[in-house]
Amino acid sequence: MSVLSRLPLLSILLSGTALAAPTTAPTAADIHGLLDPLPLTLADTAAVESRCSAIFSLATKAKTALETRTGKAAIASDLTAYDHLSLILSDGSSEMYLISETNPDEKIRAAAEACVQKLAALGTEISLSRPIYDRLSAIPTAGLDTKTAYILNKQLVSYRLAGVDRDEATRAKVAQLQKEIIETGLLFAKNIRDDKGDIPLRPEELKGLPQDYIDAHKPDADGLVHVSYDYPDIFPIFDFASIRDTRRKVLIAFRNRGWPTNETVFKTLLQKRYALAQLLSKPDYATLITADKMIGNPTRAATFIDDVNVAAKPGATKDYDELLAFARTVDPSIDRLEGWDNSYMQNLLRKQKYAVDAEVVRQYFTYDKARQGIFKLVGDLFGADIRPWNTPVWDKSVTAWELYDQGKLVGRFYLDMHPRTGKYNHAAQFPIRTGVTGQQVPVGALICNFPASGPMDHDDVTTFLHEFGHLIHSLYSGKQTYSLQSMSNLQWDFIEAPSQLLEEWTWDYDTLKGFASNAQGQPIPEDLVKKMNAGRQFGEAGRWKGQLAYSAVSLNFYNRAPDFDLATMYDAQISRYSMFPPVPNTHAYASFGHLDGYSAIYYTYVWSKAIALDLFTRFKTSGIRDKATAMQYRKQVLEPGGSVDANVLIQNF
Ligand SMILES: [Zn+2]
Repeated sequence: MSVLSRLPLLSILLSGTALAAPTTAPTAADIHGLLDPLPLTLADTAAVESRCSAIFSLATKAKTALETRTGKAAIASDLTAYDHLSLILSDGSSEMYLISETNPDEKIRAAAEACVQKLAALGTEISLSRPIYDRLSAIPTAGLDTKTAYILNKQLVSYRLAGVDRDEATRAKVAQLQKEIIETGLLFAKNIRDDKGDIPLRPEELKGLPQDYIDAHKPDADGLVHVSYDYPDIFPIFDFASIRDTRRKVLIAFRNRGWPTNETVFKTLLQKRYALAQLLSKPDYATLITADKMIGNPTRAATFIDDVNVAAKPGATKDYDELLAFARTVDPSIDRLEGWDNSYMQNLLRKQKYAVDAEVVRQYFTYDKARQGIFKLVGDLFGADIRPWNTPVWDKSVTAWELYDQGKLVGRFYLDMHPRTGKYNHAAQFPIRTGVTGQQVPVGALICNFPASGPMDHDDVTTFLHEFGHLIHSLYSGKQTYSLQSMSNLQWDFIEAPSQLLEEWTWDYDTLKGFASNAQGQPIPEDLVKKMNAGRQFGEAGRWKGQLAYSAVSLNFYNRAPDFDLATMYDAQISRYSMFPPVPNTHAYASFGHLDGYSAIYYTYVWSKAIALDLFTRFKTSGIRDKATAMQYRKQVLEPGGSVDANVLIQNF
């Protein structure tokens, strides 16, 4: 459930560049020529390489032109030139990153990944370019409007955090480390993506699974059912498998995804990031990464985690005790609840106590119905008018759409929503084009792994809406004066709030009745939705303690020298915060993709949730489907993107 930003604009001053003859900057026509096409269906690796060269050379041209500028620095010239450079590089990288995570052809994915690395290295050079920093810092700030002053200052802060003011030898070391960090991160992600999993189970071990699942999972020639790590394969087992050992076996396998391959890869990532922080005179990487976030420093992050933990504990303990007592009535041999009991027992308890049967609930959802329902919801709330977009796609299952507002095109998006070999295997929004007023329309993609047909869990519908929240945030905010004001430049610990807010609507009967219906066409009963809501809070405090455990893992991996055993540290945080003991003999960090992308700041999910609940109070007062409130939210919170501080967005609403 994440949003993948442009790769950090981070890396080395090419010696002598500043002395080179002035170069002309790319023209508007050059930039349009490069970024107006959307070459996401490249035929072969040669096409990827040629496209990569085009992006690289235009970005290099923009960089050199900016570095060799002379005369008085000014917003209209220098900041604009810098913004163009940033746009070329971030859109080019986003495009290649999407291809590397989604193209059906393994060779094309690998070529795109090589390009992402090449562009990231250029990004690092730019982030350490003293001539560019000098031009930007020479721009007179007197009389600047607040928004322009805000983004200019933000760039200068990032430059200093990246180490631009260090001597040349240090900058060279920083650049080398950044390059290695990016390579290691890509390898970490690739190892997760490529580990498809094969858990052999005897057909009778699937006892309790819904019939549609059994029908879709017939035994192979060896008489065994082979379960992969794809989400539609694996999650129903935790929810429904009545044999405890099946759940245990599958969870242990799933928590070892990416391992042992990623053990050394992740250790290397921690070491490189620690070395980078040290080089930049920071005690650890967590200090470096939190410096420009709302939270400010790792100590505040740790305090925040502990404060929420104290608040969540009484509710979580009460639910846990009730769940344990209930589980003993199901299976008297259980003396404590394990991670593999959680979903299953919660489902059973909800069925008994709240008369909510997850198996019945999922009969009211399919992917297609959820998509139609979500399109209608954003239409009702925000006036989004979504129409099919006729454009080439990289796989036949991918669909393409345009979002209009009162007849005016706001942005475009792709939906790549079902599992496929070699594809990104989590759920995320990928940016493709940033969007700049009068210049470029934003384009994004949702990459998810929902079942293509048949019933879909209510949780999946919530995830779909969550990711759609990131998408509309990026589309509605993709019309700023500068690309630097886009959503991906918003403080990262705010970024989950709009999506977490939107999740509330999958619990609203008036929303659900519009699209949730069973195979016979009967709409979801109001009474069932009432019961779902009654049961919703059960286990919620415990779920947030689980999120705190992951936040603590993320923070404690990065707030010290990486001289600890990964599994021991991981298990220690789980033991401290989660209601369930660590799953023995597992190495879940090896497939915890956020440990690369979010590094120390997984706490942002909990932080953003607190903000989301605060934002939701407005809707509680005015009515969850009140259009005036929704439109005000769109205009005051979503549309400004990263043009103002997140605290200002919240206050304005
Ligand atoms: Zn998210």
